[in-house]
Amino acid sequence: MADPSSELLAWFDRTGRDLPWRGTRDPYAIWVSEIMLQQTRVETVRPYYRRFLERFPTPEALAKAPIDEVLALWSGLGYYRRARLLHRAAGEVVAKGRFPTTAAELEELPGIGPYTAAAVASIAFDEAVAVLDGNVERVISRWIAFAEPPRAAAAKLRLREVAASLLDPERPGDSNQALMELGALVCRPRSPSCDACPLVASCAAYREGDPEAYPLPVEKRATERRRHLAVLVERKDEILLFRRSDDEDLLAGIWEIPWVRLRDDGATAELHLGTRYGGSWSLGETLRLVRHGITYRDIEVELRRGELSEAGELAEGAEAGWFRRDEIESLPTSSLLEKLLR
Ligand code: SF4
Repeated sequence: MADPSSELLAWFDRTGRDLPWRGTRDPYAIWVSEIMLQQTRVETVRPYYRRFLERFPTPEALAKAPIDEVLALWSGLGYYRRARLLHRAAGEVVAKGRFPTTAAELEELPGIGPYTAAAVASIAFDEAVAVLDGNVERVISRWIAFAEPPRAAAAKLRLREVAASLLDPERPGDSNQALMELGALVCRPRSPSCDACPLVASCAAYREGDPEAYPLPVEKRATERRRHLAVLVERKDEILLFRRSDDEDLLAGIWEIPWVRLRDDGATAELHLGTRYGGSWSLGETLRLVRHGITYRDIEVELRRGELSEAGELAEGAEAGWFRRDEIESLPTSSLLEKLLR
């Protein structure tokens, strides 16, 4: 019987998907693809990846571009912090004068964690360092019937060690991609296709008869419900938007429709809007209700017509702009704005 590492690679050579970022050894292109693929589906990433590399084919081209252009090209992909950090890291690569070649060096760049560093270092530079994403965690947890939830640092360390034992020293990048691919296509969270799995002969969870029992569950955070009010302020064919500050943790620098969270604190929505954006607000009819889920939050957004009196001053730091709908399409915005204006 061939060893599991060779079985895995042979399976990948036979069945691996032909993805645009496979087959390249360009560390910059691999890095861009790995950042885009974080929390985002392969099919969604494909067109963004192509457009991004056409416009910014090198770290130099990316570093030179204004951040607004980078965010506009990222618009719709979500998690904009990724784009900002990618842009900043490109600047650091250019300043350094060369691309980092080891996982340890790569991790020093903004926005690059152990997973991305391992993926780039192994695929582009053949460093034998194992990647550990959600897919690999699941495959390894099942393969060794791991008796701990893969959450604590010690558990992750153990899983990474086992994943490293499956790397072919000659082709560590392909081994890593094979494990990720196996998790995505075969060892799925529900109904894994063990019959088609190259690791079946040595898989402990399969032998036990219930692969879905692994990974052991971690305690779930309860869903938090929130109500928000968004305000559509129109002037002829233009809509009033505000730009989020660059210091925000979430969606920094994107343009959004004015909104506030509705709280049972006795204050009116107009007052909350005034506190947040400055000026004096008045609200009109309700236009629609939209549900929007972000991680563990379930948000109900009520969209109302409204006016912002020109008499009042805007709050310090608030940046407002009037845009036509066709102009909004080329701005960095969130998927919520698209939903509200659809
Ligand atoms: S045999 Fe089944 S449970 Fe085990 S690694 Fe393969 S797909 Fe996953």
